[in-house]
Amino acid sequence: MNLFFNTNLAEGYHSNSQKIRVMSESWVNDNVYCVRCGSKLTHFENNKPVGDFYCAKCKEEFELKCNKSKLGAKIVDGAYYTMIQKIENGDIPNFFYLNYDLNNYSVNNLLIIPKHYFTKNIIIKRPPLLKTAHRAGWIGCNIDVSSIPASGKLYLIYNKQIIDKNIVISNFNKMLFLRNQRDYLKGWLLDIMKCIDLLNKKDFTLNEIYTFEDFLKLKHPKNNNIKAKIRQQLQILRDYGYLAFTKRGEYTLL
Ligand SMILES: [Zn+2]
Repeated sequence: MNLFFNTNLAEGYHSNSQKIRVMSESWVNDNVYCVRCGSKLTHFENNKPVGDFYCAKCKEEFELKCNKSKLGAKIVDGAYYTMIQKIENGDIPNFFYLNYDLNNYSVNNLLIIPKHYFTKNIIIKRPPLLKTAHRAGWIGCNIDVSSIPASGKLYLIYNKQIIDKNIVISNFNKMLFLRNQRDYLKGWLLDIMKCIDLLNKKDFTLNEIYTFEDFLKLKHPKNNNIKAKIRQQLQILRDYGYLAFTKRGEYTLL
């Protein structure tokens, strides 16, 4: 994997965003693999509504977002209702987030947010565009990536270091069980995974997770038995091999 864009491709383009688009798409096409099966990616023809790349072998779809900044707390995305509908229909693509170095047109970071980490809860509506705007009344969205647990931000390149392809593919496939969960339950699972991340340790206890009760109550105000819900999610995560129960009320991440 070569970390540099081919700058010859930018000749003839005037706007910086067009240059980046052409160079980054070509770079992904030549260097990035399907994180599910390891095959080479194929570029969709332009103007295809969903995704920018797909895998001809396993049919995964990928949308590429490029930015000169590292991944922050949110990603600015397109139309709000389109995004919600895609999540409801299950046809949202996986998101590649490519952070490039503007000084020498190289890749600093490349990560993927797998499609199974998207729930309606993390799609935040932006205010409608003003009457004076070209598309007055149009409503866009932000993706609240700060709510996504660490396992949903899979790095292929981290600070210019290439991560072992087999590790990336294995970590992607390990979490595919999330695709079988309905949006409501998946929201709970992801919230519990986020709480475990915040503890920042491999071994933890049930009481430690209970300390997030108020935080979880804010996210799920209709639920009156948060502790029972926590225990239920931990069991599901155990059943899918995300963690193991070591002793009564004690857990370890796998
Ligand atoms: Zn594939």
